[in-house]
Amino acid sequence: MMKIYDLIIIGAGPAGITASVYAARKQLDFLVISIDVGGQTAWSGEVENYTGYQFISGPELAQKFEEHLHKFKTPLKENEEVLALEKTDSLIRVKTSRSDYQAHSVIIASGKKSRELMVEGEKEFKNRGLTYCATCDGPLFAGKVVAVVGGGNSALDAALQLMKIAKQVYVINNTAALTGDAVMQDKIVQATNTTIFNNTLVTAVLGDKFVNRIKIKNRNQQEELAVAGVFVEIGLVPNSGFAKGVNKNSQNEIIVDARNRTNIEGVFAAGDVTDVPEKQIIIAAGEGSKALLSAFHYLSRNNFSD
Ligand SMILES: Cc1cc2nc3c(=O)[nH]c(=O)nc-3n(C[C@H](O)[C@H](O)[C@H](O)COP(=O)(O)OP(=O)(O)OC[C@H]3O[C@@H](n4cnc5c(N)ncnc54)[C@H](O)[C@@H]3O)c2cc1C
Repeated sequence: MMKIYDLIIIGAGPAGITASVYAARKQLDFLVISIDVGGQTAWSGEVENYTGYQFISGPELAQKFEEHLHKFKTPLKENEEVLALEKTDSLIRVKTSRSDYQAHSVIIASGKKSRELMVEGEKEFKNRGLTYCATCDGPLFAGKVVAVVGGGNSALDAALQLMKIAKQVYVINNTAALTGDAVMQDKIVQATNTTIFNNTLVTAVLGDKFVNRIKIKNRNQQEELAVAGVFVEIGLVPNSGFAKGVNKNSQNEIIVDARNRTNIEGVFAAGDVTDVPEKQIIIAAGEGSKALLSAFHYLSRNNFSD
């Protein structure tokens, strides 16, 4: 007979890891299923707004989270993707890329992923010069000319990292002005190896075995820029597609109440995947702890007999 867990936590970013630390301390019989450990925290360059750390790099903070997760010998299924979630009677069934599981409660903490550019060459050159993570792949482009696509915080964070490594950074932004935080904009405007193209679209990514140029369009003028790398930083979309019966808003974020409850009893959600305003590490972590405490109260109240 298939084991029934008290709780399954989907995702091991700040929200999922915090939920799992609380679950371990409540001695629940639980499982964490995640594609990776650390989530978006590992993509961030510099983190200056996580209380207790005046400055820490994203990968370092992700490492601290991972150590905290393992301190409690958390049962973790890593490199495993949740494909579907369904509630029948009082049980929630979770189907993954490797197996099937069931539990009395679930916390969805699957965060967000990069939005795709949807232009010619994007799929072809993905991981062959085109990437969605400056922190992970930036060092591969030392001394080269690269383009960052986007003008918000993710794009500026990428440009700040790349201008220290690359020979030249083009920031290709489709709005009239950059929209990311002023403190980051100032650093980028002052850099001598960075050029900003506002009101400009990338229309194609071209190359041979690897990217060697992009086509850009400014109003009706088209031109090509020679680049070795393209960093797509045009925002994020929630990883909520597998949660079919769960109510979402127009941006596909899972709708939760103040106690992290979704429309399905026993299914909770936390962090960037939800409609909670503001997507930040400390908010995701706080929401993860709240979701776990709500799940714990739900399990205590229902007294499920396995
Ligand atoms: C470039 C960048 C810089 C940032 N800088 C900062 C900053 O300086 N300060 C700050 O506070 N915030 C920053 N953020 C935002 C912050 O990283 C996020 O708000 C936070 O990581 C959200 O946490 P989360 O746990 O909700 O989701 P995520 O971090 O997105 O984690 C989601 C987890 O779910 C897993 N997952 C996804 N889909 C599935 C699935 N189907 N099955 C199983 N597992 C799945 C993923 O592998 C991942 O482990 C930054 C974000 C980016 C992109």
